[in-house]
Amino acid sequence: MAGHEHVRVAVIGSGFGGLGAAVRLRRAGVTDFVVLERRDSVGGTWRDNSYPGCACDVPSHLYSFSFAPNPDWPRNFSGQEHIRAYLEKVADTFGLRPHIRFDSEVLHARWDTGALHWEIETGRGTLTADMLVSATGPLSDPKIPDVPGLDGFTGKVFHSARWDHDYDLRGKRVAVIGTGASAIQIVPSIQPLVDRLTLFQRTPPWVMPRMDREISRAERWLHAKVPPTRALRRRMLWLIRELQVGAFTKHPAQLGLVEKLARHHMTKVVKDPVLRAKLTPDYRIGCKRILLSNTYYPALVKPNVDVVASGLEEVRGNTLVAADGTEAEVDAVVFGTGFHVTDMPIAQRITGADGITLAEAWKDGMEALRGSTAAGFPNFMTVIGPNTGLGNSSMILIIEAQLNYMVDYLGQLGTLTAGSGGRAALDARPEAVRSWTDHVQRRMARTVWNTGGCDSWYLDANGRNTTVWPGTTGEFAKVTRRVDLAEYEVLRAPARAGQRKAEATR
Ligand SMILES: Cc1cc2nc3c(=O)[nH]c(=O)nc-3n(C[C@H](O)[C@H](O)[C@H](O)COP(=O)(O)OP(=O)(O)OC[C@H]3O[C@@H](n4cnc5c(N)ncnc54)[C@H](O)[C@@H]3O)c2cc1C
Repeated sequence: MAGHEHVRVAVIGSGFGGLGAAVRLRRAGVTDFVVLERRDSVGGTWRDNSYPGCACDVPSHLYSFSFAPNPDWPRNFSGQEHIRAYLEKVADTFGLRPHIRFDSEVLHARWDTGALHWEIETGRGTLTADMLVSATGPLSDPKIPDVPGLDGFTGKVFHSARWDHDYDLRGKRVAVIGTGASAIQIVPSIQPLVDRLTLFQRTPPWVMPRMDREISRAERWLHAKVPPTRALRRRMLWLIRELQVGAFTKHPAQLGLVEKLARHHMTKVVKDPVLRAKLTPDYRIGCKRILLSNTYYPALVKPNVDVVASGLEEVRGNTLVAADGTEAEVDAVVFGTGFHVTDMPIAQRITGADGITLAEAWKDGMEALRGSTAAGFPNFMTVIGPNTGLGNSSMILIIEAQLNYMVDYLGQLGTLTAGSGGRAALDARPEAVRSWTDHVQRRMARTVWNTGGCDSWYLDANGRNTTVWPGTTGEFAKVTRRVDLAEYEVLRAPARAGQRKAEATR
């Protein structure tokens, strides 16, 4: 990377968010940008999660870019390898490769108030950028709990998102820690291979049937030859999910019927009353992410599987000890314990106009105007920022909405710059961020995520829900369509270089 390279936009990450940003930038006529990726290939989530059984929980025709439809999705819910291949193809089709810098982990980025740009330090050199777009992903840095004694374990240990394909699980005694979306895909995939599988479950998930099937050749042919059929399919998938949102956000009591279906899904397979009791959640369905599987319960009733209805508390030698005292000696431990979500690691690496990091600014909880911009961090936005997550639909819809916001943001900057003859930057006004956050939290109060009686990864250390969007994706698209300049302070080139006395014009 050149020593003093300057670009108009630097994007961090090459998952759906980063690649989508690259496509939208090119389409907006911006070619002076780079995508900085710490690994050596694109794909993000779908590159990193290659565990057995890894697949999407949202139908592929909805879990894909609207501007890059794929008539060839092989299944309703595609597997990881198909989604990864799709993203590789997006990078090729849209000519993104020349912009992508692999092995370029962003180590630090600092806003230069005098120059009105970001100074970015990567693992392969430094550069500056007018605008910094962080698309590092909400579920990209694995979290392994600090379990006493784990260091002394002499067997194999890995996280679901860093699967060790060189380790042969056949004939081994394996512990899976956690019962989230990844774990319930892993368990049925490895159960037939292993000698013994012990599942450490702190909280049982609600699991619904997975309406998966192959997409027939006839359907694929039709989608390729008659594109409106593909668009209609996407529209229907989207609409069904939009209509479900009210139950999650306003009327959680309506979810009782769904609970009945989920309970039946479990009891028709699990006949043992003791195991049934362990697997029955005591919180409202939807409070934690609803999981989809037809193979999870059938795997749990197999004779080589033990369900420990208690979290992992301690490791003594090669014996895992649960909080309820249950012990299991194992050869390998697979952590399906999720990611750093409410404490996104990139926040520690971004220093804003006031010399504090985003993590410091967010010490009481993440917040960002329209899920995107934070006060004191000019010309910076987060794709899948605070309160943009979804409980029941495709994150690609949120990403695309935020990318509209990014394009409008750049357009507004262009207009301001052209009008003044100087350079401009936009900094979210603290009162606008506060009012947005209050609005979101007010709406959050009635949602199942806050009232459903569970402790989920949607909540931060203070118990505040800073991850989920309490509305429909249509509403989110509407509130991110345009940047409202009244919500921003316009910074212009300072009178004296090196000072933060940017002239506020509004
Ligand atoms: C197993 C799994 C299943 C999922 N299933 C679904 C689903 O069914 N439906 C759904 O809507 N969502 C699902 N998700 C959520 C999924 O993460 C999002 O849908 C989407 O893929 C996020 O894209 P992204 O580009 O924002 O982040 P990511 O795909 O995580 O990409 C982030 C990229 O940023 C890079 N990066 C991070 N930090 C740095 C740095 N400092 N410097 C440089 N590069 C960096 C990473 O290497 C990565 O390539 C799932 C997530 C997981 C983990």
